[in-house]
Amino acid sequence: MNYPTYTINDLNTLPKDGSSEIEEFHNFIADLFEKELFAFPSENKAAQRILAHGTSTLTSDESETIEALISRYTGIECNQCGLEVSLSEIPLLRNNDGLCRYCGQEGK
Ligand SMILES: [Zn+2]
Repeated sequence: MNYPTYTINDLNTLPKDGSSEIEEFHNFIADLFEKELFAFPSENKAAQRILAHGTSTLTSDESETIEALISRYTGIECNQCGLEVSLSEIPLLRNNDGLCRYCGQEGK
């Protein structure tokens, strides 16, 4: 499994400092959902369950759907420095001409 297993209660009791893998993953899903960037209705459905309940109640089908979704967003590299961009930076990447957090800041 390439995503963290958690409940909404886990998410709500985490420190909100952006350092948690759970928070990073949840924000990634929330962002894709908000911007309607899912390729398949099954992804949308699995995302709705994650946003409501965390990942701990996903069915095995939904789990596979999310794994495939994550792999589409894994291994994406910054256009400038070529470093792999983490899931939390994917939303940023789209607004930043494909530049990572660091390269995007340099040019501004
Ligand atoms: Zn970069």
